[in-house]
Amino acid sequence: MDIKFLKGVGPARAAMFERLGINTVSDILRYYPRTYQDRRPGVLNEFCSQGLVVFLGRVARTQSIPAKSVHIFKAFLEDDKGNNIECTWFKKRTFFKARFDPMGSLKKDFKMGVWVWVIGKREDKESFISNKITVEEYYSADKQESLIHVNRLTPVYSLTQGLTGKFFRTAVHFALEKYLFEEHESLPVSLVKKRSLLGAKQALKAIHFPSNTPELDAARKRLVYEEFLLLTSAWGIKKQQKTVQKNYTYHIKTNLLTPFKNNLGFELTHAQKKVINEIFKDMQSTLPMTRLLQGDVGSGKTTVALSAMLLAVENKFQAALMAPTEILAEQHFITITNFLKGLDVKTALLTSSVKGKTKEKLLADLAEGKIDILVGTHSIIEDNVVFKNLKMTVVDEQHRFGVEQRTRLRNKAKEIDMLTMTATPIPRTLALAFYGDLEVSAITELPPGRKPITTFSITEGEAYQKAKSELEKGRQVYIVYPLIEESEKLTVKAVKEDIEKIEGVFAPYKVGMLHGQMKRAEKEKAMADFKDKKTDVLVATPVIEVGIDVKNATVMVIQSAERFGLASLHQLRGRVGRGSEESFCLLVPHNLSTVSKERIDILCQTTDGFKIGERDMQLRGPGEILGTRQSGDFEFKAGDIFKDQEVLKWAIEDRDELLTQDPKLILPEHALFKERLIDLYQKHWHLIDLS
Ligand code: ADP
Ligand code: MG
Repeated sequence: MDIKFLKGVGPARAAMFERLGINTVSDILRYYPRTYQDRRPGVLNEFCSQGLVVFLGRVARTQSIPAKSVHIFKAFLEDDKGNNIECTWFKKRTFFKARFDPMGSLKKDFKMGVWVWVIGKREDKESFISNKITVEEYYSADKQESLIHVNRLTPVYSLTQGLTGKFFRTAVHFALEKYLFEEHESLPVSLVKKRSLLGAKQALKAIHFPSNTPELDAARKRLVYEEFLLLTSAWGIKKQQKTVQKNYTYHIKTNLLTPFKNNLGFELTHAQKKVINEIFKDMQSTLPMTRLLQGDVGSGKTTVALSAMLLAVENKFQAALMAPTEILAEQHFITITNFLKGLDVKTALLTSSVKGKTKEKLLADLAEGKIDILVGTHSIIEDNVVFKNLKMTVVDEQHRFGVEQRTRLRNKAKEIDMLTMTATPIPRTLALAFYGDLEVSAITELPPGRKPITTFSITEGEAYQKAKSELEKGRQVYIVYPLIEESEKLTVKAVKEDIEKIEGVFAPYKVGMLHGQMKRAEKEKAMADFKDKKTDVLVATPVIEVGIDVKNATVMVIQSAERFGLASLHQLRGRVGRGSEESFCLLVPHNLSTVSKERIDILCQTTDGFKIGERDMQLRGPGEILGTRQSGDFEFKAGDIFKDQEVLKWAIEDRDELLTQDPKLILPEHALFKERLIDLYQKHWHLIDLS
């Protein structure tokens, strides 16, 4: 039923409700309170919850003071225990309505001897004993409907201009009374039983007007579960609908993979092996792979990705790796070529710096299948880049790309396998909930022998002191500058201005420079010089955030650390601690706000990328981190993905069970659930073909 037909609403207020996304009576029932006020009466001289004073008293005396510009009205109330309060109202005098008494309704409501509920705050917020109250709401004690608002856990809603809390509560109460019977149980009854959940009607009633805290908790749990189950089922169904079958198969051979493994120079970690197995299994299955590989900085994702690409190459297919920045693409290219030395695999690098004849030749070779592995930036998804038989794609730092860019890469060929990688991992449960159409793998351990990185937040002077002492031990140092106003140009200017000073501080050690405005050859030289220890200190812009790998570097100084996001700081820190020496990350904040202080504190406390990913999400909100999905998909009305992880786990588990049993939701006991799914997701996601 349209909300405007709800008693007391009408078209004008309906427009206000619409601003809150409430169009129907059913919507208002599902517009859950933002919070609750405990309006069960407390003793006046104690602070009640949220500093609220809740008082039930008899009007002992009133006072009306007509002053020149304002009217003042006072009411003195007392209860049977001898507590008393003094309430004061001020109202402007209106000269046009000289005979109108602005205090008329107050005088009527506060007649001598009547009992009234008063909700308010102490005028003097500091005082615990003052009995002077600024009244927020009051209700007559002998009206039944007052009990919607007082003497209970009272719902507080997010409102919009024109709607008062009192009105909203009354409307919800009325809707519950008259229309709750129309709300049906949409969850499969077996699941309600299994998880001992409240029924739909009971939960809806209790979320608005709980009789006590346990009942409220139970109602929340039920509604959170419902919300999570719906979302995660939508993902599950979307995943089912990937029905394109591959028309080729992979065979695991030994001509490339074995020598590759033998040439690595290290043993793969247990976690790497496990993940490689998962990926190979996907690649050999008949459905195209869409797998997300999560792994902390330095956990060895590149090696894993390269194994997957080699499996494709062994089977005479092409593979491509896309990285978000030119410098990272170059770095990957160098790493990959090194790993593949002596093997018959042709690799090429394509970035926007590759131009003219070189590019033409590269594109021709690619189309003829003369290149096995193409590494590059988003240049590789341009239309004129044509592969002969691309089957395997890897996207590094996938969160830096949008859905569209990934889709374009996928569309470079038919039935393609895709591996996306991220070093800003999120907890598995969350990953499953948010990337529900992806499989998720995680590398949960770092290669052995890595020493932990110690992180401090200190001054520039202290940082340079520490850096010098490491230089004296023969180690190397990074100094990173943040982007200024998102502009690499301005940043480079700042770096150039400071470099002389830095050279002075660190003399006689050699200082190199690396930034995005340098030519490719210059960049390569700067990196090679640092790697070969021709320079000891590398001053850089955040271009080095990902990709650089120099084991002898043990200090990372981050200038204006407050300007970086949590994930970036973690990535930068991951540039050190790659060898067997103890390493340091020295954060030099110049201007701390509360939020940036929190980021820096977190970084000093933990090096666990999973924890950092989770905190980052909490600080910035899931929409911001996952960015590429519609943000509405992550706005839960009842659920909190951090606090309610247990329930989220249930939902994922039950979703799997449900969709295995009834993949298309055709059983009669799932009809109402299906209806809600269609209602919520079909239009928005264009994906779910259930009807
Ligand atoms: P990520 O991309 O996950 O941040 P990389 O793939 O760049 O990590 O690997 C980081 C470094 O660790 C590289 O120098 C790589 O050669 C090395 N590495 C990878 N796997 C292992 C392993 N199992 N044992 C030792 N070193 C490894
Ligand atoms: Mg990497």
